Amino acid sequence: MTIDVFGLLPTELEERLAELGAERYRADQILQALYRQAARALGQVTTIPAALRSRLAAEDFDATLADPVRIVSSEDGQTTKALLSMESGTLIETVLMQYGSEQGKPRNTVCVSTQAGCAMGCVFCATGQMGFERNLSAGEVVRQVMHFERVLQSRGHRVTNLVFMGMGEPLANYNATVKAIRILTDPRALGLGQRRITVSTVGIVRAIERLAEEDLQIGLAISLHAPGNQLRAELVPTAAPRSVDDLLAAASAYERKTGRRVSFEYALIAGVNDDEETATALGALLGPRRAHLNVIPLNPTAGSFARPSRNSVRRFKTILDAAGVNCTIRIEKGVEISAACGQLRTGEGIVSVEAAEPGTQ
Ligand code: SAH
Ligand code: SF4
Repeated sequence: MTIDVFGLLPTELEERLAELGAERYRADQILQALYRQAARALGQVTTIPAALRSRLAAEDFDATLADPVRIVSSEDGQTTKALLSMESGTLIETVLMQYGSEQGKPRNTVCVSTQAGCAMGCVFCATGQMGFERNLSAGEVVRQVMHFERVLQSRGHRVTNLVFMGMGEPLANYNATVKAIRILTDPRALGLGQRRITVSTVGIVRAIERLAEEDLQIGLAISLHAPGNQLRAELVPTAAPRSVDDLLAAASAYERKTGRRVSFEYALIAGVNDDEETATALGALLGPRRAHLNVIPLNPTAGSFARPSRNSVRRFKTILDAAGVNCTIRIEKGVEISAACGQLRTGEGIVSVEAAEPGTQ
């Protein structure tokens, strides 16, 4: 069976090498080449002896990064979506967003998928509507980051931030998600800062409680979408009947345990959850918490839901601001290439520039 080197923690790689009779320090040479020099495959790791390279090949160790099936870039070149072929041909999407400089330093954020498809069925989300195919492994998550890390390194840059906001529900693939985070943040591997990682979840309470115990300094974003249980259940059919209260309690516990603030996400949908009454109820819920709310005006998908007008978005924000909520409107990147939140799906013909609705940004 193939051993995916990108799915191993540095300590695990050491153990595997020891089993083959190789010295432990060989692990660091391999990790250095894969993560710091973004080698294309183990065969390119020339710092280890040729005999060890052949042995690893014979034992089916693999760290080959596949060429993307398709790359689509937005007109401004800041957003790039890669269609990647994973183990057994599963297709998933990964997005790179390059922001202007942050005190002179560019911010390069990769948005990873954790599942092919998603079982949560949120009614406004393209991934949710395509259904669930399978969980990705930790190595498959790491590979997505490494795909763009290699592209960036060739231009003298690095991946600086990571968001788990691609296809799938990260906390429904809990073990692979947490393991990928541990690999990517390990100083001996990619060494990303934990504080530069955000996991976005539809709100699986038990998993949030578990994540709080992991001793990770990662950010957590909870997709709320409604201030009340009834409306939330219409939008997130898999939500528990009393999910709003439970989520707020889980968020508080996460904050107490990790010292990190939880933020909330809200896909704003015309005529569904963008009216004054809903905004007021949301303000009453989140205002006392001084919560951070990220409003994402709906990105077009195949469904019948529509993005609210600018005025409606502005009104929503005004009400929340007045209630003491730290409300930001997410500036969506990549809408015209269907690379924005909720637009990722790999169905036939959907992943193309032509399939996206023009003029929606
Ligand atoms: N499954 C996780 C993470 C992936 S979705 C989650 O649901 O949080 C990332 C974000 O995109 C979520 O907040 C989700 O609600 C939002 N989203 C999904 N479809 C969207 C759409 N069509 N327009 C805007 N945001 C959307
Ligand atoms: Fe899954 Fe998130 Fe889409 Fe809901 S919004 S269907 S949880 S990917």
